[in-house]
This record gives sequence, C-alpha cells and structure tokens, in this order.
Amino acid sequence: MTEGNFVDYVKLNVNSGNGGKGSIHLHREKFITKGGPDGGDGGRGGHVIVRANSNLWTLYNFKFKRHFSSGHGEHGSKNRSSGAQGEDIYIEVPVGTIFKNTESNQILFEITKNKQEVILLEGGLGGLGNWHFKSSTRQTPRYAQPGKKGKELAVTLELKVLADVGLVGFPNAGKSTLLAAVTGAKPKIADYEFTTLKPNLGIVPYRDFKSFVMADIPGIIEGAGKGKGLGHYFLRHIERNSILLFMIPCDSKNVKKDFEILISELKEYNSELLDKKFAIALTKCDLLDEELLKEYEIEMKDHFKKIPHFLISSISNQGLDSLKDGLWTLLNES
Ligand code: GDP
Ligand code: MG
Repeated sequence: MTEGNFVDYVKLNVNSGNGGKGSIHLHREKFITKGGPDGGDGGRGGHVIVRANSNLWTLYNFKFKRHFSSGHGEHGSKNRSSGAQGEDIYIEVPVGTIFKNTESNQILFEITKNKQEVILLEGGLGGLGNWHFKSSTRQTPRYAQPGKKGKELAVTLELKVLADVGLVGFPNAGKSTLLAAVTGAKPKIADYEFTTLKPNLGIVPYRDFKSFVMADIPGIIEGAGKGKGLGHYFLRHIERNSILLFMIPCDSKNVKKDFEILISELKEYNSELLDKKFAIALTKCDLLDEELLKEYEIEMKDHFKKIPHFLISSISNQGLDSLKDGLWTLLNES
C-alpha cells in the first residue's frame, strides 16, 4: 500500500432476503367446476445495496451497526397475484471505501463516486406460481417453484483515512487535550509508511452520524527531517479539502505574534500547506473570567478578521460545539 496512511476497518455481516414461494392454487368459483391453476409468483427477496454518500468521511457509524439484512419476498397467492418484493436496504459509505470478501480477502469493488450504487447481495428470486406449469397434458399442476434463498456474506470495509483537520501549535498549546476531548474513536493504523512516526489521530463524531478526522500535525512535523515520504503524505493530504487549526493558549504573551511564528515555521517546512484553509482556536479559555473573555473575543476579531476563530476550553468543553460546527462548515464548503 503506497497511497493510504491510516486505514479505518470494519467487518460486517450481510444477508439478502429470500424469494417468496410460488402459489399452488386452483381457481374456485361457484358453478365453475374446473377453474384451473391460478397461483401467483413469489416476490423477489430484497437486495443489499451499497450507496456512496459524500457527507460521510469515516466508517465510524458501523461501530453501532454491523449486521444488515434486507426483507424477504412475499409468497404468491390466488388469482395469479404476485407476492410483494422484499424491501431493499442501502448501506451508506464514504467515497473511497473498498469492499472485500472477509473470507477470501479478495477485493469485491471500490466506491469511487458520490451516489454510486452497487448491489452487494442480490435477493433470492421469487418462485413461479402453478399457473405457469399448466400444459395440455397437465391441466391442474399441483406444483409451484419455491423461492430462492437469500445469500449471506461477510465483508470487510476499508477506507483510507486522511486527516481533515490538522492541529498546529507549540508544545503545551493543548492539542492532545483537544484531540482527547472531541474524538470518539481512534482508527486502526495499518501499513503506515513512516513507522517511526505515529501521528496522534482520532475520529470526531459530529451531528447525525457524520464524522471527520483530526490529527496532531506537529507530531508529524517534528519528525519531518527523519521520515522520508512525508511530502507524499502531505500531498495526499492537500488533495482533500482540509483545514489547519492553529492552537494558541490564551495565556500567550502575544497571540498574533505566535500565529505568525507558526505560519513561518510551516512555510519553511512545506509552503503548500499555506494554501489550506485556516482556523484558529484560542485554547484554555476556562482560565479567563467573563470580563477577560469578552476582551479576548474583541481582540481576536480585531487580529483575525478573515480567519474563523474560536475561543475554547477542552477542559470545561466551552466552545467545542461551535468549533466542531465551524470546522464542519469549512470542510464542506468548496
Ligand atoms: P500539547 O503539547 O499541545 O499536546 O498540549 P497538551 O494537550 O498536552 O496540554 C498541555 C497542558 O495544558 C496540560 O497540562 C493540559 O492539562 C493543559 N490544558 C490543555 N487544555 C486545557 C484547557 O482547556 N484548559 C486548561 N486549564 N488547561 C489545559
Ligand atoms: Mg501533545
């Protein structure tokens, strides 16, 4: 694996619905003695369908649901009436998700475009009703097809995870504490190219099962001299709509100056980073009383007119929801 860095994995079990039975029915009506066969067909079992959703960025929601089954088809009935089709179900996944057969480890397909749909498992076909089997020699067939059984499959989903939000700040700015406060899960780190570097990275659950990935970028930057291929990581990183969140503690002597130092260090490291979107968090705001907080708000507005900024505390959770809302908006605007 050369492109991906972190891989988010999940194993799922899926079942498609059985087809309904064909009906064995002979038409009966007053005064008609031999009405003939009129048993309808069984309905098809529901498919299990995978659908891409560009609002999803991780496999985080599968943490809560790992088994998916579609509906069974209904049986056919008299008057040649067909049974209803079983309900199809849709499994929504982020673009870039790879599906593998868990048993064989073979790749089944990769989801590459938003709204793309792939039938992962077809529902069983419904059986034909007995009226199909009527012939000149067999006027009243007492036979109909059973429905085909649905299928079962164990699949593994894999997604290359790139950090959407990178944290940039001096030591003690509160990066690790923020990461711990807002992330719900750590993706498994597999095949990481730069094994000496284990970036601190986590998934931030966001409203309605959305999520994005946050990483401690300076951890990566510190090892930049040693780790080769790092430029590659960042290039991949830059391809994606992503943000640098600058973190400056509120007890900094000069917030604006600190920001400028961080920018110049980044520039020296890789000037392409400066093309990314920026946001600023003034951290540890629980240390400020209300009056000071107001003053800082005004000061931040003054210093950073064009850069979205947030006053937060990872310890008291202050401002963390607005921070997530702001980051989500930035991530999704083009
Ligand atoms: P990092 O070096 O940027 O990862 O910073 P850390 O997250 O390790 O935090 C450095 C120190 O600041 C630790 O002692 C934290 O407990 C403290 N800290 C971090 N966030 C907050 C906060 O929101 N409020 C307060 N009062 N202290 C914080
Ligand atoms: Mg840290």
